Amino acid sequence: MSEFATGGCLCGNVRYSCTDKPLMSGACHCRDCQQNTGAAFATLLIFKKDSVTISGNEAKTFEHIGDSGKSVRRSFCSDCGSPFMAEYDVTPDFRVIMAGTLDDPAVIKPEWNIYTASKQPWVELSPHMKSFDGGFKRD
Ligand SMILES: [Zn+2]
Ligand SMILES: [Zn+2]
Repeated sequence: MSEFATGGCLCGNVRYSCTDKPLMSGACHCRDCQQNTGAAFATLLIFKKDSVTISGNEAKTFEHIGDSGKSVRRSFCSDCGSPFMAEYDVTPDFRVIMAGTLDDPAVIKPEWNIYTASKQPWVELSPHMKSFDGGFKRD
């Protein structure tokens, strides 16, 4: 099977591989992603669920209620704490990978910004990317 990308946590105890290209990718400026990643925004890669395989036994999951009112499960390495994946009950067929954990983050080109209503004031949005105040919406 061909591999699109591989990645993992900072200590290397959690590894993953993605067989297909992401369906889409973008930056999420919601407060949950800011707190979860400790960064100004999370760069998200949205994959079909079955194209992402996790290896290692160190992944733990934290579950909370998202903006949708439904569960969000955020996975991280129990040894080094790196958040690497999120899964949303609203979109059960997808797995969302945190792009900073890719072995080669340059393989992706984010297309949009979401939840810009809570973006940090110093972040300048690219005019080449679509922006949404809230969640992603198709035209
Ligand atoms: Zn780790
Ligand atoms: Zn978010």
